[in-house]
Amino acid sequence: MAAALTMQNELPSAQKPRDAARGDHEKARKASGDSTDGATTAMTKDNEGAPNIRNVVLGDLLFRTWYPSFYPDDLVGRDLERLYVCRWCFKYSRELIPFLRHLKACDMKHTPPSDTLVYAKENYSLYMVDGQRHKLFTQNLSLFAKLFLDNKSVFYDVSGFLYYLLVQTDPVTAQRQVVGFFSKEKMSWDNNNLACILIFPPWQRRGLGQMLMGVSYELSRREKRIGGPEKPLSDLGRRAYLSFWSATIARLILSASPSSPQPKGKVAASEPAFSVKDISDITYILIDDIIATLKEMKLLGREKRVDGSIVISKESVRQWANRNRIDLRNPVDPEAFLEKPPPEGEEDDEEGEGNEDDEEMEDEEDDES
Ligand SMILES: [Zn+2]
Repeated sequence: MAAALTMQNELPSAQKPRDAARGDHEKARKASGDSTDGATTAMTKDNEGAPNIRNVVLGDLLFRTWYPSFYPDDLVGRDLERLYVCRWCFKYSRELIPFLRHLKACDMKHTPPSDTLVYAKENYSLYMVDGQRHKLFTQNLSLFAKLFLDNKSVFYDVSGFLYYLLVQTDPVTAQRQVVGFFSKEKMSWDNNNLACILIFPPWQRRGLGQMLMGVSYELSRREKRIGGPEKPLSDLGRRAYLSFWSATIARLILSASPSSPQPKGKVAASEPAFSVKDISDITYILIDDIIATLKEMKLLGREKRVDGSIVISKESVRQWANRNRIDLRNPVDPEAFLEKPPPEGEEDDEEGEGNEDDEEMEDEEDDES
């Protein structure tokens, strides 16, 4: 029993629970032209110190790490070629034999990571895990995640967070695999709907990061709290979010059109127009984030109306989407949440976030099909 898999129960509480992990590097994404995976598409690491654990084995996959680890030196050592990590419970070992022994006996092998299934669609499901109730699991998950997250501390104090684990199920073997997650403060003074997000490297560039962001906003909608990711965002996190926000806004504006052909000349009057505030109310994206996104999309022209507002035409949004080959499908299916949202209708308890109407944006119709 001497060489049993590392199973520490408490970790040093040196680290403040700050916003871990949201980004990394990209380039791979740029090179591939794939912007759907957002914060986690990075394939290159930056040079803030070489990883002291160079590779990990997760299940039967071996891959490189990107960043220095926070695994305790006394359990893992200062310099390690390969760390073995259980694909079900994230316990780890520097030795192969105890690792293999553990795999046979892992008590999470046949059970989902928690009993709270939040979302299920096709091969993907999302489980909510309470850091307080599953301390060891979420600590081990955080330690693993830190290998792919730059400059952010991973929380050892996991109890104030909920973790939403993205689980992929192999359609043939029915094997479950956690492929990424995001965490969220249980009580966020700033209405942050996400603290950190990561898709593990072997599963990146499949749009899963965008799916997790979509889930985080769908949860905001259910809580009736407009919010966003904890700031400041890393460069990559910001880019990923801009990609998510811009697609969300474009989808809203473009889908507002009546799909049936309109009689000529009647269109303008029957088209809905959105202000930034309206977009925020519908998408649960913060007004500031919407304005930053519209600027980034270069859709805010200079021309203003007499009342000072700027109008963006639907046609310019459509052109933007075509030009950037934006996938306008919703990355999450609201119907695939197990719990149905509370009925819309009664006024949400407004917590008016600076009712700035200064940059009103309206969707004006240009007549064309
Ligand atoms: Zn295990």
